[in-house]
Amino acid sequence: MRTVSTFDEVRALCEGRIGLVPTMGFFHEGHLSLIEAACKESDTVVVTIFVNPLQFHETSDLDTYPRDLDRDVTLAETAGCDVLFVPEVSTMFGTIPVTRIEVAGVADGMEGAARPGHFAGVATLVAKLFSAIRPDTAYFGRKDAQQLVVVRTMARDLSYSVEVRGMPIIRETDGLALSSRNVRLDAESRSAALALSDSLFAAADVFESGVRSSDTLIDVVRERLDTQDKVAVEYIEVANTSDAASVERMDRDVFLAIAGRVGGVRLIDNVHLDPGSGVADRGVRLGVPSILYGGT
Ligand code: AMP
Repeated sequence: MRTVSTFDEVRALCEGRIGLVPTMGFFHEGHLSLIEAACKESDTVVVTIFVNPLQFHETSDLDTYPRDLDRDVTLAETAGCDVLFVPEVSTMFGTIPVTRIEVAGVADGMEGAARPGHFAGVATLVAKLFSAIRPDTAYFGRKDAQQLVVVRTMARDLSYSVEVRGMPIIRETDGLALSSRNVRLDAESRSAALALSDSLFAAADVFESGVRSSDTLIDVVRERLDTQDKVAVEYIEVANTSDAASVERMDRDVFLAIAGRVGGVRLIDNVHLDPGSGVADRGVRLGVPSILYGGT
């Protein structure tokens, strides 16, 4: 594996089919699952680590975002990364970019409403990576379900010839979705945060029993979260996977998404619901504690 910091170096090292995994680093098994999937299908796996200032709405979140490059280098290499691209902010954007990519509609609700400018920051960065690296396939987690819709829409509208692949949510042994931000939860908040995934799983069970009304599922989630006063809910919504529009009745692929603050940490999670098969996708649980907490 080579660790590089300029686009020229990345391009010089790429050959054959290119798989791209954009990240903000501080790796956990969710990130590693994307790298491993890229390895199976690519000649060159490029992983980027860039804590993108454009997509942070709150300076305190940007400042406290966990970082540990030495740890990430070892984990990326073990997972099969060929080129680890770690640019400085000045390399990526020079000054603040004059050109910004706004993905209208799909970026407006949920995360877009809660974090103004967030998706323009994401889309601008990802478009820049697609233009400069020209990947054949790019791997994103369904953990960030709306982000996946935004990236797919942007790639289609700007005619990038990249396949945007959505990968399963990887969860801790008790069900909490893996997030680099989980390391900022103290013990009490960590325990309270479990209400997020628990409430989604309860709604997934109700969906699998045949219920197709979004309001009913949202009520199931809300009732569970209401019992946990350490969780401040920001939104609970059911949206199409195709355009992230809110739906009242589920008649095609949707995701049930929640965002909440627990002990000062903002967390998001979702389950995918497929009315065609009647199956809810709850993601994949680890069998052992996550490497986030010092394991290997
Ligand atoms: P981040 O470093 O948080 O920006 O995430 C980089 C990529 O990893 C994004 O495509 C995320 O959706 C994905 N990702 C983050 N957490 C998970 C998870 N628990 N399971 C699967 N993918 C994830």
